[in-house]
Amino acid sequence: MRIALIAHDKKKSKMIKLACKYKDVLAKHEIYATGTTGTLVMGETGLVINRMKSGPLGGDQQIGSMIANDQLDLVIFLRDPLTAQPHEPDVSALLRLCDVMNIPLATNISSAEIMLIALERNEIPCRKDIAE
Ligand code: PGA
Repeated sequence: MRIALIAHDKKKSKMIKLACKYKDVLAKHEIYATGTTGTLVMGETGLVINRMKSGPLGGDQQIGSMIANDQLDLVIFLRDPLTAQPHEPDVSALLRLCDVMNIPLATNISSAEIMLIALERNEIPCRKDIAE
């Protein structure tokens, strides 16, 4: 599966913890990330990560474009709901595209963990089999 990892600054430590915990699961998949998130996760886990630009510099839009082109299967986006983001329009566009394309999206650590447990058990249903 092709998985995108994105974390706002105050959520980056949580993303690193999560990636370390599920490193072996993630290692079996193709991982993409926004610039800073990718660099940090790669440094801590040794995972091979395809890095986009930093989120505020267009990375969210690059991930959004992958979603629009059906090039991603799962998105974990640990958003910071308590801090205004200069690139809020990009963030909203990315989240919206996940819904447009019916891509599983986890925006907090609890849902991300559920997603990764399902991935670990090979229990992520094929999107095409899910009734719309
Ligand atoms: P970053 O981008 O991983 O480059 O910090 C995340 C974001 O703010 O969208």
